[in-house]
Amino acid sequence: MRIALHWQILISLILAILAGIFLPQLVPYVAWTGDVFIRALKMIILPLILGSIISGIIQIGSSDSLGRIGLKTLSYYFLSSLLAIVTGLILVNLFEPGTGISLKTNETINLPNVEDNSIGNLLIEIIPANLFESMAKGEMLPVIFFALLFGFFIARSAEKHKKILGDFFDALFHVMMKLTLFIIRFTPIGIFGIVIKVVAEQDELIDLAGSLGKYMLVVIAGLAIHSLLSLPLVLRIFGLSARKHLRAMRVPLLTAFSTSSSSATLPLTMESAEHGAGIPNKITGFTLPLGATINMDGTALYELVAAMFIAQAYGIEMTITQQIIAVFTALLASIGAAGIPMAGLVMITIVLTAIGLPLEGVGLILAVDRILDMFRTAVNVWSDSCAAAVIAKSEGETTNIAV
Ligand code: ASP
Repeated sequence: MRIALHWQILISLILAILAGIFLPQLVPYVAWTGDVFIRALKMIILPLILGSIISGIIQIGSSDSLGRIGLKTLSYYFLSSLLAIVTGLILVNLFEPGTGISLKTNETINLPNVEDNSIGNLLIEIIPANLFESMAKGEMLPVIFFALLFGFFIARSAEKHKKILGDFFDALFHVMMKLTLFIIRFTPIGIFGIVIKVVAEQDELIDLAGSLGKYMLVVIAGLAIHSLLSLPLVLRIFGLSARKHLRAMRVPLLTAFSTSSSSATLPLTMESAEHGAGIPNKITGFTLPLGATINMDGTALYELVAAMFIAQAYGIEMTITQQIIAVFTALLASIGAAGIPMAGLVMITIVLTAIGLPLEGVGLILAVDRILDMFRTAVNVWSDSCAAAVIAKSEGETTNIAV
């Protein structure tokens, strides 16, 4: 009997959590499977997104529909992230998880290097000064920017050239999908290696009764409301079934949860969106890579709740204006965050700076960040896949997930 892949992943996840708690001495022997798995996924991302975006754009073809779909996608990303943030804002004001905390602000914080995250810089760096350098550094946005333009001008070239390059990138995309399917088979083993390490490294058990526990519960409740109520409602409005979609997306969702990386999960997200949910490649081709980079509903919600939690912990009363600034910087922070583990934690510094809160506040939330990262990454991937489904539907495409 063959056990379905998502069950294999779930079993591996549970075994890894148990092993991480009771047999942490296993970590040095098994953690390598996680590294191998993540490396294999990273290996395929670049050719996969080049193939998918370029062949997708060529299919979309005319500049009118490209502009329309592009605008629609960006507006959708903006609105769904905003919805997530507002959900977080309501919950954090309602439950005030940070009020009454005793602060230990003298802790030293080892944050990963924060580069120049200013918004202007972010915009300029979308244009790759050297395409190959961007590829080598794994910078997604510049590569996506180039691929969009490249696909657009292939669609506008003489028939002869269009055919050669169109066939080439289509073939590249299909071969990469096959390779993805091959790597997906190893997901349960890879996830075991990743999760056992994460669990074994959590040195303190989290006291769910304490304020940090309350903070975690607020973030998780917000994520649950957004992903299990708000987004399904949006799908419903477009005549799509959230249940069917969830079923189609379970492998990437479990992988996102286990790896805490939307970028690494991207190949699986694309595979399931296309072959499971039946969303055509011309839509997933560019909405998903773009979404994995800039549309992070889970991270957006988390940024806002974390910043408000820190404000509450310092006993700082946030004015309405400050809260509005927090909402928009949380949005920008989520757009700027890379799809890698703990990227959101680094971006928190932007929000804190914008509303004038002490950066040491990050120290407060460090301990539980890795766990929250798992939840928010799953929501990030889920929201990307919902976006792809909604955009496809609004373009009159048929999918496998109609109500
Ligand atoms: N880990 C998240 C992701 O890959 C980003 C974050 O840290 O919030 O989607």
